[in-house]
Amino acid sequence: MFDRNGNDSSTYNVENYEFIKKFSPTVGGLIEKEYLRQKNNIELIASENYCSEAVLAACGSCLSWKYAEGYPTNRYSGSETRYYGGTKYVDELEEYCCNQWRQVFHTDYHVNVQPHSGSQANFAAYKSVLKPGDTILSMSLDNGGHLTHGSSVNFSGKLYNVVFYDVDENGYIDMEDVRKKAKSYRPNLILAGASAYARIIDFEQFRDIAKEFGAYFMVDMAHIAGLVAAGEHPSPFGLADIITTTTHKTLRGPRGGLIFARKELAKKVDSAVFPYAQGGPLEHIIAGKAVCAEEAQTSEFKEYAHQVVLNCKAFADEFIKLGFKIVTGGTDNHVFLIDLSDHPFTGKDLQDRLDENGITLNKNAIPGDKRPPKQTSGVRVGTAPMTTRGFKEEDFRKVARRIAEIVKQMDEEFGK
Ligand SMILES: *Cc1c(COP(=O)(O)O)cnc(C)c1O
Repeated sequence: MFDRNGNDSSTYNVENYEFIKKFSPTVGGLIEKEYLRQKNNIELIASENYCSEAVLAACGSCLSWKYAEGYPTNRYSGSETRYYGGTKYVDELEEYCCNQWRQVFHTDYHVNVQPHSGSQANFAAYKSVLKPGDTILSMSLDNGGHLTHGSSVNFSGKLYNVVFYDVDENGYIDMEDVRKKAKSYRPNLILAGASAYARIIDFEQFRDIAKEFGAYFMVDMAHIAGLVAAGEHPSPFGLADIITTTTHKTLRGPRGGLIFARKELAKKVDSAVFPYAQGGPLEHIIAGKAVCAEEAQTSEFKEYAHQVVLNCKAFADEFIKLGFKIVTGGTDNHVFLIDLSDHPFTGKDLQDRLDENGITLNKNAIPGDKRPPKQTSGVRVGTAPMTTRGFKEEDFRKVARRIAEIVKQMDEEFGK
């Protein structure tokens, strides 16, 4: 994959788009352009990463040709659970993948490796323990939650009755509010996990509240799963009833989802994924997930995850020194939000201007944002992708100074 300067020691990507170009100059050409964009840009999108060539190769393998609706034969004590023949090897692969993920998180939870994405994983996870109209207590999109945590434009907000807990005036999850709302709304499920939250989540406190009020406790660790795997964030295993994740964010694997659950929920989870939510599993992606799980157990991965957090602290620290406001005043993980509410331009303006300058990030609402979601008063940054490319603390400090220069120009231009 690319190093810090955009040099690629393998020829894997180049050979692939050159090969595709022979059949489709348009598609091959666009992949080439995107490859060059990725190579030349500084990637700060907190949900992105670069997976290994081994993961890419697994995802581009002959497994893409195989239908295997159902679950590995013998998963449920010998009963026939695949709907197609020829599944001997994908059965072995899928079980291997499940076992590897249990090892990553040192758990005996049931694992389903079939969800096509994090959203699909959440769709199935809810279905396995809730009925339409049941109540979910979660964090809203505006405060750093995910669309699938009950946004009104998402299935979650339409199928379920969703109540949101708030963050306090410092941007931290307000555990008092979680408890208060659990008490008054009696949710069927309490959800912890976020897409734009820079602090450690106290899963134990969430579990205690869920227990006190008889709710299921679910964790969506899509963003932090790589940190959990490496011991850089407390683990929800043993505390949550159901855990969902993506595999392509800090875990650095293929684009996809996973569900973990207490053993007694195994059948419910499996039937919620197939046949309820999905058809044939993507066995090629499952192969990529298995490679990712092996990688996540290496010492190299642990070093990467540790460096992600060190880099993120240095990055936030430099912004603070440069006079920026950071939501919660810092970070414990791989991500943080820069608060632009005192500036005369929006998150969208900064995102666009940085795009022109080879720096990629995304606009993001900040808690209590007064600007509309298409503009926002914040941007979200993450350190995982550039850490994969070898960036250290000083590199991130430099990027912060470059962004500060651009912001200064924009302040003048937009009339501060
Ligand atoms: C990214 C994310 C998801 C969804 O992942 P997709 O693969 O994009 O569907 C779900 N939950 C959280 C908290 C996320 O950050």
